Amino acid sequence: MVSQGLIFSKNPVYEKCPSCHSLGTLRKSHSRKTSEKLIKKLTIFAPYRCKKCGWRGYQAKLVLTSKALKNGITYLFMIAFAAFIIYEILKRFI
Ligand SMILES: [Zn+2]
Repeated sequence: MVSQGLIFSKNPVYEKCPSCHSLGTLRKSHSRKTSEKLIKKLTIFAPYRCKKCGWRGYQAKLVLTSKALKNGITYLFMIAFAAFIIYEILKRFI
């Protein structure tokens, strides 16, 4: 695991298979479809395949820590508060 402060990058290869719960059976699946390539590029998910039971699906490559979640909520509140103030100011001028 690589610590980046608030976000941990994880490798699903070392995690349990969601279907058969075997450890270390997940392998990165080659994305053939354009949609899979897009998902891989735009999100934190990547396609994986279990070599034991044949499960195929998406696993997250990053996990947020509880601290990151807390900071994220605080950040959202700040944005909402700032947006509210801007809205109130704009209302006076329109
Ligand atoms: Zn499996």
